[in-house]
Amino acid sequence: MSHLFPPAPQVAVPVRGSSHLFPVHRIYCVGRNYADHAVEMGHDPDKEPPFFFQKNPDNLLLGGGEFPYPSASSDVHHEIELVVALDKGGVDIPVDSALDHVFGYAVGLDMTRRDLQGEAKKLGRPWEVGKAFEHSAPCGEIVPAGAIGHPASGAIWLDINGARRQQGDLDQLIWKVSETVSYLSGLFELRPGDLIFSGTPAGVGPVVRGDRLHGHIDGIGDLDVTVV
Ligand code: MN
Repeated sequence: MSHLFPPAPQVAVPVRGSSHLFPVHRIYCVGRNYADHAVEMGHDPDKEPPFFFQKNPDNLLLGGGEFPYPSASSDVHHEIELVVALDKGGVDIPVDSALDHVFGYAVGLDMTRRDLQGEAKKLGRPWEVGKAFEHSAPCGEIVPAGAIGHPASGAIWLDINGARRQQGDLDQLIWKVSETVSYLSGLFELRPGDLIFSGTPAGVGPVVRGDRLHGHIDGIGDLDVTVV
């Protein structure tokens, strides 16, 4: 049987130094994973269990570039994040072996309609309208762990129009990558192709049309996005 209409194309992320693309299965995102960001959002920085939301694979803005200011919001925020790319799946993955499931890392942005997210929080509603909209997940190329290892520290920052807005270090992650993968695998069956946006350091704030965003993570690379 053929499809009623053409299926959506497989979303796939370029891999540095490879002619192969990384086909995306799901996108998981960790909420509040740097203490200073938890505090700026009005929460306790103590190590509570991680929580997750999802974006859709076709929300990716591959390689950055032009980010169209989305509909229905007047308060769109930037969140610079380390993206973890899995090439092995599983359930109940032990922390000790979790990094064996990680193929590589990328620089990503969790763009957020903060006004809609705030309204959802207040009303106890889901976060999708605030988080999972078109182009809401700019993501650079994946850098294989085989080339750079598994970074446990290193600067992560975001400049807008040349001014530093967010600044942190991967060693400030409340839930380390191995712990996040392990915990998430107790909630969902992880699959090859899953991406995990691992949370953002402090300094989130609004963007406006014309802003030039430049994100960086030591050892992984850079991501440039222009708000249009
Ligand atoms: Mn985020």
